[in-house]
Amino acid sequence: MKNRQSISSICPYCGVGCGINLVVEDDRLASVAPQREHPISRGQLCAKGWSTAYGIETGNRITRPLIREPGGFREVSWDEAIATICDGLKLIIDEDGPDAVGIISSARATNEDNYAAQKLARAVLKTNNVDHCARICHSPTVAGLKQTLGSGAMTNSADDVFEADLILVIGADPTENHSVLGGHIMRAKLQGCKLIVIDPRRTRLAKMADLHLQLNPGTNIALINAMLDEIIRQQWHNSAFIARRCEGFEQLAGSVNGAMAAATKITGVAEQLIHKAARLYSQSPRSMLLYGMGITQYVSGTNGVIALSNLALTCGQVGRTGTGINPLRGQNNVQGACDMGCLPNVYPGYQAVDDKQVHHRFSQAWNTSLSRHAGLTSLGMTKGCIAGVFRGLIQFGEDSVVTDPDQNHVRAALQNMDLLVVAELTMTETAKLADVILPAASFAEKQGTFTNCERRVQVFHQALPPPGEAIADWQWLAAIARGMGSNQLDWPDSKAIFDEMAALTPIYSGMSYEKLEIKHGLQWPCNAENPDGSRVLHQHSFATDNGRAKLIPVHHVSIDEPADEHYPLLLTTNRLHFHYGCGSMTRKSPLLERETPAGILFINPQDATALDIEQHDGVGVCSRRGYLETRAMITDDVPPGLVSMPYHFREAPSNQLTNNAQDPVTKMPELKACAVSVTRLPEGQTPRSIDNLIIQEAGS
Ligand code: SF4
Repeated sequence: MKNRQSISSICPYCGVGCGINLVVEDDRLASVAPQREHPISRGQLCAKGWSTAYGIETGNRITRPLIREPGGFREVSWDEAIATICDGLKLIIDEDGPDAVGIISSARATNEDNYAAQKLARAVLKTNNVDHCARICHSPTVAGLKQTLGSGAMTNSADDVFEADLILVIGADPTENHSVLGGHIMRAKLQGCKLIVIDPRRTRLAKMADLHLQLNPGTNIALINAMLDEIIRQQWHNSAFIARRCEGFEQLAGSVNGAMAAATKITGVAEQLIHKAARLYSQSPRSMLLYGMGITQYVSGTNGVIALSNLALTCGQVGRTGTGINPLRGQNNVQGACDMGCLPNVYPGYQAVDDKQVHHRFSQAWNTSLSRHAGLTSLGMTKGCIAGVFRGLIQFGEDSVVTDPDQNHVRAALQNMDLLVVAELTMTETAKLADVILPAASFAEKQGTFTNCERRVQVFHQALPPPGEAIADWQWLAAIARGMGSNQLDWPDSKAIFDEMAALTPIYSGMSYEKLEIKHGLQWPCNAENPDGSRVLHQHSFATDNGRAKLIPVHHVSIDEPADEHYPLLLTTNRLHFHYGCGSMTRKSPLLERETPAGILFINPQDATALDIEQHDGVGVCSRRGYLETRAMITDDVPPGLVSMPYHFREAPSNQLTNNAQDPVTKMPELKACAVSVTRLPEGQTPRSIDNLIIQEAGS
């Protein structure tokens, strides 16, 4: 008879953090089922969640450490792999100092893995060069909301959508990317909640919204400032809230004066629509603002977040259920990776590395000296490598060759590295460039915690043995620490890591595995003042130095690379419901894989006609940085002049084309807009994958 067990876990894909049960029969994952009583998913899963089992199946997993040799990779023992890594790290540190090495951790790994990664960097390697993919999704959220509210996270809870009278979705496509939450928004709308969508694309929510403001890409700040101008002119702002809880209103009011008059020319949105949106948002008793990477992935990303904060604060739409400023975090644990201090300027809990008291506390707790200056961002490490000053990188759970902007530049940087260590489940494009590859355990093969987009920390359990010699990330990170002569990471289990982290992280200090097991986790801050966690932030005061929120004037900044005569269309990037990130897990599912072709260019009928392109024709797409071939999907979901591509497909990776011009505050690249030209491929020519294009180029 089969041994059958149902193990409580968390969906490993997006930041909604739906509850799943892994049904295991004789050490084999037999099925995945939603948890009926889960507070967010409420017995539902999207197509990705239902397909979880495919993502971790053992068929093409890396099961032993591998070392690069001329002619390919050689399977080696863990001892040999760790010795090779440590010899390489020691050599680089001896020659060029600790800032010549660094770690890129993973928003898909557990909090415990991420805590271990930043501790290895800081306490063992002696550098703050630690970062992760939040750099290219929500680093402007962390930086922008930290300045205005004192805390860079979703202020409210996911189920607040059912408490709101109005939901404003800007620069986000939740029914594709956060599908269960997107479904909740649709349900709230059907139950009578008003819905405004601000987006260049006609998303599913935009089609059912009361108002869709289809602005030009990169004009968010001009539009928000126009709404603020109208709100203040019409006296729709919340004077009592501003007087009691904010500072800087006079300067803000002065800075947006006249913004409405300039808005239509910049944004392409009619004044009348902006007026209606301003009235609805400001006058609804409870207005909830949700946003995504359509705000953050611009050179003005941090200021875009500040503009949203100005809007919500001016209308008093913060600090109550059904309101708030709510970034929709992409990956399952991107919130947790930020919370754990996998950022070059902060320790766990957003405690600044250059703050004397914080530095002293961590030096004491870890009983070692620590670097006093902020480290390099992930893109800074790439640049440093090209310049020859950054030489050794440990990276896990990230396929940056596929997901980072300007792919050719990233590939060249990683090939230039003296030591590249990659830990992964399967052979990714980045792993193919590594000197040492380590076999990693998936979420189902280890215990740990994830923190979802609404700050909910949830514990999950090991359901399966890891395949071959794969181990949890924190375990191989500890092995590297030992190889470097340090016992800093010698924890007996993941629970001990969590306890150490909680003791040093004020927003997590009231949490333990035992407490998290009750009622599907706790939302931070959870501490002596909030022992049961916090559903809504900033109810009585803000997390700033004086408890008051800051209103900060910000101004429209044009996108870095507008369309021109050589590259006459603007390209933006998007995600699809059926895939996730670089597709390394979702594309293993035949059910998800059959839903879309491996690469699509969405193009408006007007542009398609002008370029003589018909539905599903092969097309070439060219920017100043690269060229790829894919298929056209003609749709008026994108306006004339704008084309859009998902970045899930290694055959046609949009990051061949994207621009790495950066937000000056966070170094966030402008992934949402760059200039391209599109041409129809000759009759009978099918689109070539990027690998074929590279091979053909090399041979020509
Ligand atoms: Fe998983 Fe996100 Fe889908 Fe929920 S909405 S099942 S967390 S991918």
